[in-house]
Amino acid sequence: MQEALNLVEAPPRAIAETPDRAALRNRVRSVLAAHLTPERLRYFDEAEEYDLELFRALGESGLIQLDGELHGSGPSHAAQSIVLEELGAGPTSIGVSLVVQFMGLELLHTHGSAEQRERFLAPLRSGDARVSFGLSEPGGGTDIARVMSTTAVRLSDGSFSINGAKKWIGGAMDCDFFILLARTAPLTDSAVDGITTFLIPRSSPGIHTEEIDTMGIRGLAQCDVTFENVRVPPEFVLGDEGRGFRQVLGTLNGERLNGAAVALGIARGALDTAVAWARNRQAFGRAVGSFQALQHDLVDAAVKVESARLLLQRAADASDAAGTADGTLSAMAKLAASAAATGATDTGMRVMAGWGMARALPMQRFFRDARLYTFAPLTDEMTRNYLGEKMLGLERSY
Ligand SMILES: Cc1cc2nc3c(=O)[nH]c(=O)nc-3n(C[C@H](O)[C@H](O)[C@H](O)COP(=O)(O)OP(=O)(O)OC[C@H]3O[C@@H](n4cnc5c(N)ncnc54)[C@H](O)[C@@H]3O)c2cc1C
Repeated sequence: MQEALNLVEAPPRAIAETPDRAALRNRVRSVLAAHLTPERLRYFDEAEEYDLELFRALGESGLIQLDGELHGSGPSHAAQSIVLEELGAGPTSIGVSLVVQFMGLELLHTHGSAEQRERFLAPLRSGDARVSFGLSEPGGGTDIARVMSTTAVRLSDGSFSINGAKKWIGGAMDCDFFILLARTAPLTDSAVDGITTFLIPRSSPGIHTEEIDTMGIRGLAQCDVTFENVRVPPEFVLGDEGRGFRQVLGTLNGERLNGAAVALGIARGALDTAVAWARNRQAFGRAVGSFQALQHDLVDAAVKVESARLLLQRAADASDAAGTADGTLSAMAKLAASAAATGATDTGMRVMAGWGMARALPMQRFFRDARLYTFAPLTDEMTRNYLGEKMLGLERSY
């Protein structure tokens, strides 16, 4: 088995890009090289543990706040997408957690009061705190605004009492605080209104968390979280009361870009692993990569990876130039990257055949993890609905 492990340790292929992008990518790679081995990556997946040490190292290296990296101040979309691609290709679960962290940064940066920024945003930027994002519920994720049953009721002292259940909440077992959406006004025809965003310390009484056993992203716990009479002071309302869902919609395009970046990383990691295997594994006295059937599939996967990266870069650059994430390009990048990830991992599994299933080797983890961005943060179907309407001008399909 050790021999097989060595076969998949190919150096990452060089990516043609501008010097500033290459420099940032190399910074991420050197932090990962200093902390990771194939055994360590495997351990955190198998043990279903979060690699907190690696997360902290990324924070200490300035790779969460990303000040001044590509396109000026603040964490630009271009810089985030490079960091997340590199994480997706290795410690994928850390990448998934950073998608949420970056979303928290944007929400707090855009809507936070001075006190909220000091208390919640500063430790998020440095990597001293982790945030979980509580939106989805047992009743549904896609139509969440209509089915949301978590409520926040204002009490006589001005504080809120929160009751309800959230589902699939990444990192909720050990985050420092939640960004949580709850209904503060009854459902009307405009389902997205009447929902408020709250900042809730994880230590607040009345929060119960249970881990869900999932097949993928096992290095980041997905949780059922219940809130029972959780008291939240009014100063922990993020932004405007009743407009929380609209605030989150404002960050959704950026989240699509970031999800696309992790999916692209998964695709690239799987492709590199498969190519290294195809070069070394022998059948009929030749490397299996010399067989045209496999070679063509690997080439198709490589084309999808490069196409997804170009679309993602274009979407990120356009979003940085406009000062807000471009809806159409972000949605297209997300679809391209999710297809690249499912395509490359499927090809990788076939190239490696029986070895693809070996838990000691990374292909089966890429294959499992690739599923996430077919439905998160928005399902591929809803992303196509969006593009059909907004890009092609067709009648809304639902
Ligand atoms: C590993 C993991 C991590 C996650 N992390 C988080 C997190 O941190 N925070 C959080 O809040 N949530 C999180 N989620 C939840 C995720 O965002 C939801 O799973 C996602 O939004 C889809 O919701 P659903 O699973 O309820 O699917 P459903 O809404 O039940 O959808 C089922 C199917 O119906 C389709 N569908 C629905 N409506 C339409 C339509 N109009 N047209 C076409 N097709 C349609 C969907 O595309 C999908 O194929 C996570 C989930 C997982 C598994």
